[in-house]
Parts: sequence; C-alpha cells; structure tokens
Amino acid sequence: MSQPAPLAYLRAQLDEIRAAGSFQRLRELEGPCQPISRYDGREVINLASNNYLGLANHPKLKEAAIAATREFGVGSGAVRTISGTMAMHTELERRIAAFKNVEACVVFQSGFTANAGTVSAVLGKDDHIISDELNHASIIDGCRLSRAKIHVFRHADAADAEAKLAALDGVPGRKLLITDGVFSMDGDIGPLPALVELAGRYGAIMMVDDAHASGVLGRNGRGTVDHFGLHGRVDIQVGTLSKSIGVLGGYVCGSRDLIDYLHHRARPFLFSTSHPPAVTAACLAAFDLLEQEPERIAALWENTRYFQAALNRLGFHTGRTETPITPILVGDARTAHAFSAALFENGLLATGIGFPTVPEGKARIRTIVTATHTRAHLDRALEILARTGRSMDLLRP
Ligand SMILES: *Cc1c(COP(=O)(O)O)cnc(C)c1O
Repeated sequence: MSQPAPLAYLRAQLDEIRAAGSFQRLRELEGPCQPISRYDGREVINLASNNYLGLANHPKLKEAAIAATREFGVGSGAVRTISGTMAMHTELERRIAAFKNVEACVVFQSGFTANAGTVSAVLGKDDHIISDELNHASIIDGCRLSRAKIHVFRHADAADAEAKLAALDGVPGRKLLITDGVFSMDGDIGPLPALVELAGRYGAIMMVDDAHASGVLGRNGRGTVDHFGLHGRVDIQVGTLSKSIGVLGGYVCGSRDLIDYLHHRARPFLFSTSHPPAVTAACLAAFDLLEQEPERIAALWENTRYFQAALNRLGFHTGRTETPITPILVGDARTAHAFSAALFENGLLATGIGFPTVPEGKARIRTIVTATHTRAHLDRALEILARTGRSMDLLRP
C-alpha cells in the first residue's frame, strides 16, 4: 500500500505562510555588505544589515583574514577541547576579557550558540529563569534546553520582574534574571540598572545579551554594562562578533570559574568545531579598530540622530527606539512586506518583519543606519521612504 509523502504537511504550512503574505524568498547579495550594496541585480541603499561600524568589508579585517589563512589554513581541524584551540583563539578571548573589564571570556561559533549553550549549561531542571518577554530566540532556546522553569516578565518592566522574583522567594532552585541589552526589533535599551539591583536583592544570577549593544553603547562600544556603569555587577555578559564586529561568532564574559565551567559543560563549545583562522584574525583586527578609532561609533550615532529625527518629521512611527535600530511600524505583516518590496523597487533595502518575529499587529520594516552611510545616502533613503510611504498611505498626517 502506498503511503502519502511523509513531509507533505510542509506544503500546507507553506501555503498558510503564503496566504498571510509572509513568504520570503532569500535575496542574494552580489558583492560586499556596504552602504550601497547590490542585491538581486539592483544597487540599493542597504539599511538592512547589522554591520553598524562598516567593518564587514574593512581593508584591515580583510588583510588580517587573508594573512591568517596563508599562515594557518582555512580550518582548525577540531573542536576546541580536542585539538582545535589555536593561540589566536586564546588571544582573542584575552583581548575581549580585557576590553570588557572581566576575568575571562570564551568565544562560541555564534551569538546564538553562546546564549543557548550558556543558559542550558548553567541551569538545570530544578532552577528558575526570569526572562523579558522580548528576549532573543537564542535565549528562549537556551531556557528551554536547560529544562528550568521559565517565568516571563512584561517587556522592560522591572516591577513585573520583581513580582516574579518575589513569588519565588524561598522556593528551592537557582534563579537567573536575563535580558537583552538592546532589543533587536525595537531598538530600546533594557532597564539594566533596576534589574541588577533586583538580582542582587533576590540572589539571582544576572545575565545580559549585548549582541546589539557591543560596538554601539558604552566607551569604545563596551556595551550596556559600561554604558550604565555596572562593572562587576553582571555575572554573565554575552556579545556577538557577527554584528558591529563585522565577522562571525559570539562570546561570554564573566568570572574565571564561569568560563572554566563552560569549557566543560557548554555543548556547542564541546561538540562543534572552532572558528577558522580567518574569522579569529579578523575579529582581533576589529578590536584594534574599536580601540583606535572611536570616531566610527560617533559617526554611527550622528547618523542615527539625523535619520530618526527626519523620519519623525516625515510622520513615520519609529516606536521606542533609543539606538541605531529604527523600526518603522506599519501594522500588519502583509503591509510590512509590501512596503519592503516597494522600497526595494525604489532603491532601498529594509526588511519587512511580521509575526511571529514581532507580535501580531506590530509588523514593521526595520532599518539600521551604519557609521559608513554618508549624509547623501541618508537623504536619498529618506526621499525614497517618504515617496513610497506616501504612495502607500503610511505617513501620519
Ligand atoms: C543577533 C543576535 C544574537 C545572535 O548572534 P549571532 O552571532 O548572529 O548568532 C543573539 N542575541 C541577540 C539579542 C541578537 O540580536
């Protein structure tokens, strides 16, 4: 007897995605990631990357990657704990630890694996996680993998986090209080000072994911802990090497004991191969630039202020952003994707984002200006946004 194809149900689910107007074909980048990039045969102003400081195509990073490849090859040959730890891996970790003003650091293959691997290693099924409702997917997956009980607090609401902690007072098990430093879809900054105070008061481990804050906030881009002057009061800091650093990877910073423990228990660290030399060497070059050229971060913020002020004057809704991540809220997912498609036709790349990445009814296009966009690029982007937004009736009167 013939059976139906076992994956046939995927087609039905895809049809639902199509019916919701959310089906996405992957655009192809035909050249480097830079302010004007070529996608699908068209030159567009690129407001869709996380390449905040323009390092993804920086000559010094490229030279470092090429030199490291010539000398050390293209692969490390093994996971870190078997034989895949190169001197440059350790050097990068020392470098990041010093930059972040902590005892130690461990680099993971990505920010995603850093979060998921760390949360699931540090906590177990008898423990409790108090987590912001808008925390990144990699935190959510780490929480699930840990099998700890998850208590979600309202976004950026320290009073609600306190209510959750108070309800757990006296309940056995460790507690982890966890937040994004900067929220990736709205661009707002988490209430870290209030959360740190709560963690101290209730004896919880404090963890912050600074993927979008590293290279953006704090002195030379040291992140939210530095931005708020909370050195020594956050137990676990996660960052990424894939956004402002321009390359690939994630890292965890904290005490020597935390890092030694992760060496023995974080599963992506133990069971997945370490970075190729090109990646690690390019990251080292990026930290040189962060320390030597803080003017890149100043340019990023200058562009951010200029762009956001102009968007608001035009009548766009940019929500609660406080950072270079600038959403333009439009309502439903279909409109967001249609707006994004029309912008692309007019020469601008900005991704449409709908449910389930953001809540239903909060669909948006998300824009990120970089340090390397010129004033002319931004003015042209604003002109395209105004013209397209007006034609689709998306501007506040
Ligand atoms: C992008 C992102 C990550 C994942 O980082 P990658 O290095 O791209 O895997 C983790 N957390 C947050 C908040 C992010 O925005």
